[in-house]
Amino acid sequence: MTSEPYLLTPGPLTTSLRTRQSMLRDWGSWDVDFNTLTGRVRERLLQIVHGAGTHECVPMQGSGTFSVEGAIGTLVPRTGHVLVPQNGAYCQRIARICRVLGRKLTTIDYPEDTQVAAADVERALASDPSITHVALVHCETSTGILNPLPQIAQVVARHGKGLIVDAMSSFGALEIDARNTPFDAVVAASGKCLEGPPGMGFVIARRGALERSEGNCHSLALDLYDQWVYMEKTTQWRYTPPTHVVAAFDSAISQYLEEGGLPARGARYAHNCRTLIAGMARLGLRSFLPAAIQAPIIVTFYAPDTPHYSFKSFYDAVKAHGYVLYPGKLTTLETFRVGCMGQLGERGIAGAIDAVGKVLAQLQARPEPAREARERQ
Ligand SMILES: *Cc1c(COP(=O)(O)O)cnc(C)c1O
Repeated sequence: MTSEPYLLTPGPLTTSLRTRQSMLRDWGSWDVDFNTLTGRVRERLLQIVHGAGTHECVPMQGSGTFSVEGAIGTLVPRTGHVLVPQNGAYCQRIARICRVLGRKLTTIDYPEDTQVAAADVERALASDPSITHVALVHCETSTGILNPLPQIAQVVARHGKGLIVDAMSSFGALEIDARNTPFDAVVAASGKCLEGPPGMGFVIARRGALERSEGNCHSLALDLYDQWVYMEKTTQWRYTPPTHVVAAFDSAISQYLEEGGLPARGARYAHNCRTLIAGMARLGLRSFLPAAIQAPIIVTFYAPDTPHYSFKSFYDAVKAHGYVLYPGKLTTLETFRVGCMGQLGERGIAGAIDAVGKVLAQLQARPEPAREARERQ
């Protein structure tokens, strides 16, 4: 193995050498070359969702959550009311943001293996006209479940409400088309499916919604309206930009387009996901979600059924073979997660399955006095 393991995680993830090399240069934030680069990043992000002319791309410093909080705080008026259908930890985070910001909140609660249903959103909107916005997580990264964005977007639009989509772990790999999927905002970040380094997020906002959002935000630094107006006026970021991250993200987007854009990225992840689930099944490891609702981004697996299993030692052993796993995020079941994204080297996902296989063999080779007793129960 190399001394640096591959990251089987949903961001930060393993980036290409070219992406990393583009960070070996310093940029002045006032410099026209850097601001040209920022402009190009914004324009190309907008094109990924076919939003040119109707939407605006507003970048934001920080991790993805900063942009989600910025989008809710800026686009939902202080008297607004947000409906959050929740089937995982990132939905819960949005609900928490609403509580912290003092935006009125209603949730629809699902088990973690159940998709959000457009019909439930429809019912909630019909029964409470005071709801102004729906906030949806597209791919709920805590399990890997895909929520039906196109159907929900139609329902929300029919009711004349605003839709804010956390597309953090789907943007660039799963289709979101602003021409036929109405939304007020789609939020994502540099270090996920576009395979840049972490450090900046961005909000693709409908221009009308953004124009009407002046003064809504509770926060100075996270005010997307201010960031947008300043950037339009000066081409610069309002406060110090993460220059190296922006430059590397620009390079990552170039590589994304060279690879074939969304269809190619989506196909690569889908192939990784199928290979992963099939390979792990051969090792006796079952995935948590049925294939029909599994997004090809990250897969939750039940922990190996061996008596001495602990995630920590499993993680350490797989890491020693060159791959970094991700802990599970389910409250009641022992699970772990494997990401399908990033630059996984020549052997790709097969190398990861091999590593897990070797570790399982080691675990199972240990004496297991407890197993027989357990199986008799
Ligand atoms: C990664 C991610 C986020 C943002 O998390 P950060 O830790 O702030 O980068 C938000 N929502 C989803 C669905 C994600 O996958």
